[in-house]
Amino acid sequence: MARPRIVIVGAGFAGFAVARKLAKLSQGSAEIVIVNPTDYFLYLPLLPEVATGLLEPRRVTVSLAAALPGARVVLGEADGFDLDARTVSYTDPEGGTGKIGYHRLVIAVGSVNKLLPVPGVIEHAHGFRGISEALYLRDHITRQIEMAGNAADDAERQARCTFVVVGAGYTGTEVTAQGVLYTKDLVKPWPELRDRPRWLLIDTADRLLPSLTPRLAEDADQVLRERGVEILLKTSVQEAMSTGVRLSTGEYVPTRSLIWCVGVRPDPVIDGLGLPMRNGRLVVDEFLTVPGHPDVYAIGDAAAVPDLTMPGEITGMTAQHASRHGVTAALNIAASYGRGRRRAYKHRDLGFVVDLGSLDSAANPLHIPIRGFPAKVVTRGYHLLSMPGNRVRVAGDWLLDTLLGRQGVQLGLVSKEAVSLESQSPER
Ligand SMILES: Cc1cc2nc3c(=O)[nH]c(=O)nc-3n(C[C@H](O)[C@H](O)[C@H](O)COP(=O)(O)OP(=O)(O)OC[C@H]3O[C@@H](n4cnc5c(N)ncnc54)[C@H](O)[C@@H]3O)c2cc1C
Repeated sequence: MARPRIVIVGAGFAGFAVARKLAKLSQGSAEIVIVNPTDYFLYLPLLPEVATGLLEPRRVTVSLAAALPGARVVLGEADGFDLDARTVSYTDPEGGTGKIGYHRLVIAVGSVNKLLPVPGVIEHAHGFRGISEALYLRDHITRQIEMAGNAADDAERQARCTFVVVGAGYTGTEVTAQGVLYTKDLVKPWPELRDRPRWLLIDTADRLLPSLTPRLAEDADQVLRERGVEILLKTSVQEAMSTGVRLSTGEYVPTRSLIWCVGVRPDPVIDGLGLPMRNGRLVVDEFLTVPGHPDVYAIGDAAAVPDLTMPGEITGMTAQHASRHGVTAALNIAASYGRGRRRAYKHRDLGFVVDLGSLDSAANPLHIPIRGFPAKVVTRGYHLLSMPGNRVRVAGDWLLDTLLGRQGVQLGLVSKEAVSLESQSPER
């Protein structure tokens, strides 16, 4: 290897940030290689808007080749790390295999849907982690309303118009908030369905958005209830079936739609490393290196990064932390080659934004709570600034949505099998 080779596994928030910063710092003096299963960076926070017909799917993807001209993208899924031989093996999208050597390795593989041992969930719930799941969900919701319009009996009509979302974190809350607006648009051709769509949001916690501030949760709670969402707290799903779900309260809810947003867990590929883990995430020190392996960095959702602002804690699984981990890892890699000094990762969170659709949002930029239209402006401005590309296209879709409403058609591009939660079962 003529130039030092830095291999980054995963091109999400963390991997993208490290690659971009390294490309700037190295100015071609290092070879930067990204191994990622897709040729795009996915802006996950806007996925609920794809699933509910507001944004077209390509809007939330940014081409890696175009956005990172200083890096080489290898399409593949890493399936083995040999830290002694310093190699990563991978399988490409067509089943071919390869192996690549490195001088520095950055593990940034993110997370996958969290599963709970609830009977029927793997078979009947819809997960929510990538483009195909969002597209499938969009079709599924559309189909339920269209089939309800032609249902033979009232019970089937109501079941098809009932949507159960499990998990009231930011994903579940946003999907519900946007979903209500989408089904309201979808039922317009069927006057008899106008008051039918029923959305339930379920969580075992005692409030919405348990990981965010109570004020944000109260604001979101109020907006959802005003839209008619039934919020069931301290409640869980006991069993899922093809025609309904049984709740921990004993209630049986007839539905064809169980939307699984209970959170994420780190990608299983890091289990195989045999390295110390905390909460399923790879243990790293405050410089983001894996103890005993100074050339190996782990960042983002996959890593248990010490939170120096809250001693004893690790940083949350958020895009904000992941991107900033990426920048710190790049600076520390440069420092390992004598450029600058290495630094500990320290970041106090800057607040959070929750888009509730229409003109509503809840946000606390710099911990100042705001809601309604001002929060909407902050939320959308934040997303546009955070996206590494496609800003005009996203803003264009938002404008079209305001002027014309959402387009309710199924495209049928993604099969149920392609997005089964089964493919993410713990044995994977
Ligand atoms: C629907 C949704 C909405 C969210 N909304 C917000 C929000 O509003 N605000 C916020 O702060 N956070 C939000 N998050 C959380 C945030 O997106 C994550 O914390 C963040 O994406 C973590 O970044 P990461 O780089 O660690 O992982 P990711 O962004 O998930 O990227 C991981 C990358 O690694 C790739 N990969 C996985 N396995 C392999 C492998 N074996 N080999 C090679 N590549 C691999 C993946 O394809 C992906 O490209 C949301 C998450 C979801 C799912």
